[in-house]
Amino acid sequence: MDKMKALVFRDVGKIELTEIPIPQVKEPDDVLLKVKAVGICGTDVKILEGKHHFKKDTVLGHEFCGEVVAVGSHVRHVKIGDRVAIDNNIRCGFCSFCRMGMSSQCVEIKTSALGVMRDGGYAEYCLVPEKQCYVLPPEIDDILGTQVETLATVVNGMNTLLMLPYDYVLILGFGPIGYLFAQFAKNIAAKVAVTEIDPFRINVAKECGLTVWNPNEVDVVEKITEFTYGRKADIVIEATGNAFEQALQCVTPGGKVLPFGMDSSVRATVIPNEITRWATKILGLYLGQNTMVPAIRIYQEQRLNMKPFFTKVIPLEQGIGAFDDLGLDLKTLQHKPKRAMKIVMKV
Ligand SMILES: [Zn+2]
Ligand SMILES: [Zn+2]
Repeated sequence: MDKMKALVFRDVGKIELTEIPIPQVKEPDDVLLKVKAVGICGTDVKILEGKHHFKKDTVLGHEFCGEVVAVGSHVRHVKIGDRVAIDNNIRCGFCSFCRMGMSSQCVEIKTSALGVMRDGGYAEYCLVPEKQCYVLPPEIDDILGTQVETLATVVNGMNTLLMLPYDYVLILGFGPIGYLFAQFAKNIAAKVAVTEIDPFRINVAKECGLTVWNPNEVDVVEKITEFTYGRKADIVIEATGNAFEQALQCVTPGGKVLPFGMDSSVRATVIPNEITRWATKILGLYLGQNTMVPAIRIYQEQRLNMKPFFTKVIPLEQGIGAFDDLGLDLKTLQHKPKRAMKIVMKV
């Protein structure tokens, strides 16, 4: 059987460049992709830290696009030669959540995600179900094509927030997710500020023309109060996973908080009476939901400034080194300052 290069997650802290058999089309709805490019996500970093659910001996990588090279007997919506972006979250289509339009809550969503629970895109080839494929227009190159699913989650957030042109928006955390929300907010809202602790990402925020505060150096509640002429933010997007209490302190009465960053080890104290008294809207949501096509449309029309988003493009063979740039020392599992926004591997 022919072999391919792949980065395989072995266990917490252990990822290996190795050769494994090229997957073969078996199911009638299987699509075999020659992977073109794959992004390294904060989720992949969390998997390596053991802070996200994982499956040993899995090829990681859920942000990828590729070219169709083989299809199963029932495949009829994509054809050989098509370039497709992937929704890595496989929704069953049959549970009551799927059938009532809430596929992000599909009862099977955690059991089958590409690049988490089954082999993903950190490899030369990847087998995906046909319904996860979205054909890319020529305006979206392979590098940007890796970020369709990422944007799809943010579009789900935007659909929920209903951001208005007179909103004051605060985004806590300027990683890739904070970046994408900030691009939308710049296009739509009256005023936007972001917070970030890593010097590299603070510089990217400045390059994007954003107001940025380091919460280790300034009092963010004071800053947002001043910035909004005493009002505080109409919308606070919490994109770190560990600043929920701060989000509640920064939101104006009647305003919205979107807890978007994910860290299952974090606990927060809330005062229910204050949520009632200040009429705070806390809006939970998970993943994208019917937002892959909207995300493609947004990129196709170049609605977002994506230039400073991509820090570097490296070959698959150098992928392991990228975790260091993303702030994780694989030997000690200790954190260090990040030296990148998004790193993409060309395959
Ligand atoms: Zn991701
Ligand atoms: Zn389902």
